[in-house]
Amino acid sequence: MDKFYHSVRLDPNLCKGCINCIKRCPTEAIRVRNKKAQINSKFCIDCGECIRVCPHHAKYAIYDKLEEMRKYEYTVALPPPSLYSQFNNLDDVNIVLNALILMGFDDVFEVSAAAELVSEATRTYLAEHKDQLPIISTACPSVVRLIRVRFPNLIPHMLPLNPPIEIAAKLAAVKAMKKTGLPREKIGIFFISPCPSKVTYVKVPLGNETSQVDGVLAIKDVYPQLLSRMNAVGNDYVDIATSGKIGISWGRSGGESSGLLSENYLAADGIENVIRVLEDLEDQKFTNLEFIELNACNGGCVGGILTVENPYVAETKLKRLRRYMPVARAHMNHEAEGVIPWTTGVQYEPVFRLGNTMMESFSRLNQVERLCKKLPGLDCGSCGAPTCKALAEDIVRGNAKETDCVYYLRENLHNLSEEVSILADDLADGDKGGKETLRILKEYIQRISDEMSLLDRQEKEDTQEE
Ligand code: SF4
Ligand code: SF4
Repeated sequence: MDKFYHSVRLDPNLCKGCINCIKRCPTEAIRVRNKKAQINSKFCIDCGECIRVCPHHAKYAIYDKLEEMRKYEYTVALPPPSLYSQFNNLDDVNIVLNALILMGFDDVFEVSAAAELVSEATRTYLAEHKDQLPIISTACPSVVRLIRVRFPNLIPHMLPLNPPIEIAAKLAAVKAMKKTGLPREKIGIFFISPCPSKVTYVKVPLGNETSQVDGVLAIKDVYPQLLSRMNAVGNDYVDIATSGKIGISWGRSGGESSGLLSENYLAADGIENVIRVLEDLEDQKFTNLEFIELNACNGGCVGGILTVENPYVAETKLKRLRRYMPVARAHMNHEAEGVIPWTTGVQYEPVFRLGNTMMESFSRLNQVERLCKKLPGLDCGSCGAPTCKALAEDIVRGNAKETDCVYYLRENLHNLSEEVSILADDLADGDKGGKETLRILKEYIQRISDEMSLLDRQEKEDTQEE
């Protein structure tokens, strides 16, 4: 298993090196070198921000195609609550669930039903672990990845329970095997995802050794298929829904927390807000909170980049859908209890460390500080790194050089030209016979000046391309 597997990818042929993405990546994982972006796989958390901001569609997410379903004798769809929020005037989730069956799935298992089990288990966990408060939600895989690489002190605060997608997959697989008598490998469990982060989770499920999800489809691929089938379902459908308000609410920011039936929580969404909350949490600013819910996407899962609806409209639709639902329909039982806890922990990955030992890191940190004083501090991005500090770190890691900074280069050339000019004047004053040397020096000055003009021109071209 590649512990730095990623579902967010780059197509270098489409990349124009415009540096839009380097500024928005929350973990500073992207550099532009030789006019092409590169993603550092150790830093990336698959949040999808770079896909959102790339104007040239050079960043994309990988996921399974619908044809994957054909590989299995029996298939189960795992629809998340964010899927329901994509449709206009949906009054009953049963219409979507029945349409999934018409689409070719043999059964459905609602992720919102598994979410209700997680809500119940979280309430118990909070009551039994008061010494670890506040507890941080582990439902968003990008947040789990972010904590794993950047906030190791917060790992003990993470909720050690499987996310609803995994619990739904485990329970659906057992149910399908019992119902059909088929071996596990002939049954395909397909999650319909709002984001690439969950695609990555299935390949590398932090907290578990393997995932029971066999394939991940994108909401945007399934949506058009479902629309026509939903019309065919009409009013003639069977009640196969298994979740209520608590489970459905998980699709939006604050929904998981509302299922805890406590007011003592904080819910933040959008990766920049998430980072701010985690930094404050490290600084022990939230001593009175019980629970912290964090979602990398704006608005929660409804804001994932594999959805089709505007996240804020989707959130309103979810609220509407909840109106006539019971509070919860799924309840803890013996079978569910066995699949809820993590089977492995999450380990700190010190990818941002500058050296292999404390001494080396300390010495490199001093180098970074010295370099930062030399660099202009403009964070312009023209060197291909998002900030001057990031360039300084790249330099001490051996991945960049000082002259990658155009301001530093210009400053150097300027100093050099002045030195040469002084030298030329000295020669002219003191050595009347040194006319030839003087000529050569003047040539040097001209070349330096030409190079500076070239730099200016390149900068202008880059600005025009942007
Ligand atoms: S935003 Fe610009 S630099 Fe980044 S991947 Fe897209 S084209 Fe390349
Ligand atoms: S997916 Fe997120 S973390 Fe990864 S490179 Fe893109 S913006 Fe950075």
